[in-house]
Amino acid sequence: MAVDRRHLLQHLERAAKAYGRDLVLPPGKLAPQAAPAPAKPDAPAVDAPKPGRSEPREPTAGHAHPPPPAPAAPTAPEPAPVPTQADPREAALEQLRREVLACTRCKLHTGRRHAVPGEGNPRARVMFIGEAPGEREDQSGRPFVGPAGQLLDQIITGGMGLQRKDVFIANINKCRPPGNREPEPDEVAACLPFLRTQVELVAPEVIVCLGRVAAQNLLGRTEAASKLRGLDLDYHGVPVVVTWHPAYLLREPDRKRETWIDIKRVNRLLGNPEDPRQKRPDAPPDSGQSP
Ligand code: SF4
Repeated sequence: MAVDRRHLLQHLERAAKAYGRDLVLPPGKLAPQAAPAPAKPDAPAVDAPKPGRSEPREPTAGHAHPPPPAPAAPTAPEPAPVPTQADPREAALEQLRREVLACTRCKLHTGRRHAVPGEGNPRARVMFIGEAPGEREDQSGRPFVGPAGQLLDQIITGGMGLQRKDVFIANINKCRPPGNREPEPDEVAACLPFLRTQVELVAPEVIVCLGRVAAQNLLGRTEAASKLRGLDLDYHGVPVVVTWHPAYLLREPDRKRETWIDIKRVNRLLGNPEDPRQKRPDAPPDSGQSP
């Protein structure tokens, strides 16, 4: 499954142009291969943006600027602060979000109330990928907001010691299939480039596939989730952990114990304690139950 790097670069270039600045690629597996610096072939292709960095534009050489006028009075107001430039990664994700909201690439657009692009921390270390929006998500335009979403929140907080805002959550398909059926192959093929771009932009350290449909379509595999769980998998070098979809866990709560095992593995891959309660000396002892 090849990553659509040209599509991703188009996102970045459009976003950079919209913010009136040069293209600066985020760190990730895309940049060294797909973004050679044309003017300086020996220079590194990636200039990792620093969080919160403001980058006012330098004056252009050769264009003389008139000297600033002298203050009219000692009590003159301070000049307005220069607006902070948006992070190109966030700008590219926003550009992608807008494209998803207007997308008509497949027939699922005809029945949707809202497309659900996905949301979360643009610099998330872990990315959760589900199948497609359900009814609640279609109503709200947000991923995993129904009972399954509440369970996912519990997994994130109780199992990982994180908050939803710390991770990135997306789906294979961004529009709800009618009757909550599985997305059809042509619908997946039409939508998957959006997800691939999101993965490249966020550049997570670990991907968690929630359920069979997410795992099969991201990885190009055909096995059931029960066979893919526990395997050492990766998506273009990013470790992938397959676990049960939260909606399935609501129907089969006994499987939560297996999800807890999978989440411990995610924590290990992130270099975190297997059990986030280890950070809290007042936490109750591990019951062995899933979060
Ligand atoms: S499911 Fe994806 S490809 Fe199909 S219309 Fe929605 S956003 Fe576009």
